Amino acid sequence: MFFTGIDIGGTTVKSCIMNDAGRIVYQSTIGTVKGDPETLARNIVLSLSGFRSPISAIGISCAGRVNTLTHMITAANLQWRNVPFELIMENIAGCPVAADNDVSGALRAESRVGVCVGETDVLYVSLGTGIGGAVLINGESYRGYDNTGIEIGHIITHADGLPCTCGGRGCFEQYASSTALKMRSGVPTREVFRQVRAGNPEMTHILDNYVHELCIGLAGLIRVFSPHMVVLGGGIGSAGEILLTRVRRELSENCASIPYEPLPIIESAKLGNTAGSVGGCFLAGDLMGVPIQVNGELEIRKKPEF
Ligand SMILES: [Zn+2]
Repeated sequence: MFFTGIDIGGTTVKSCIMNDAGRIVYQSTIGTVKGDPETLARNIVLSLSGFRSPISAIGISCAGRVNTLTHMITAANLQWRNVPFELIMENIAGCPVAADNDVSGALRAESRVGVCVGETDVLYVSLGTGIGGAVLINGESYRGYDNTGIEIGHIITHADGLPCTCGGRGCFEQYASSTALKMRSGVPTREVFRQVRAGNPEMTHILDNYVHELCIGLAGLIRVFSPHMVVLGGGIGSAGEILLTRVRRELSENCASIPYEPLPIIESAKLGNTAGSVGGCFLAGDLMGVPIQVNGELEIRKKPEF
């Protein structure tokens, strides 16, 4: 059996096809078409037409609010409002389709084959253009009353702070997303880490301030959800030890001062920018009642980020 995982982002759509033994057999990347879900679905199916065997099911990881009960997706960066994309895709692809939020998809992938295999209580924080989050509590994905997941990028970390795209002020993502680090440093985030490694004191100061802002939000979330592990994903999450050592130190020195409370394990996501599409494959397998088991390391082409 073959399952397709599709990660729909604001700029690109990344797809991969996995067999039921967890081996990636096909990958494709295409540009995102905004505001026209039918055309996007057709383009995705076309991009996978080089793979000749029948597909059993499709799993989608999509940015935005994905309601897994009503199957409607609202995504500002795709210009979608209550789009029944699962149905549209089913009609065009001719197989069962399930969708979930992209960060939930990434957490699903990291739980099956990545950094948090065997963990039951995990907070996944995606540090990208904005900040996204997903939580595993007692091994179950926590999705809130309306089943669309959690919006950790818009918790307020600064009262009356910077205006946010959501209409609020002082939201976490205005201070701790990769966009915020880029604004503060004036250079791409990759360059910030390169200069810190090279010993640039000004950039080191900027990174330390960024980590302080990040840890204010993380400390609040850790106190609410009590995770055993926090996984940092998205572009900045892949920076590795240069980020992780700072976050661990900052949390233990300044933000987690409640006595007798051990800090959770802080780790980087392992699957990088492939997590959404890989998570989609697992979702498709689950939909068909065939949980994909991966033996050993997942073999997948991924773009190095740092
Ligand atoms: Zn906001």
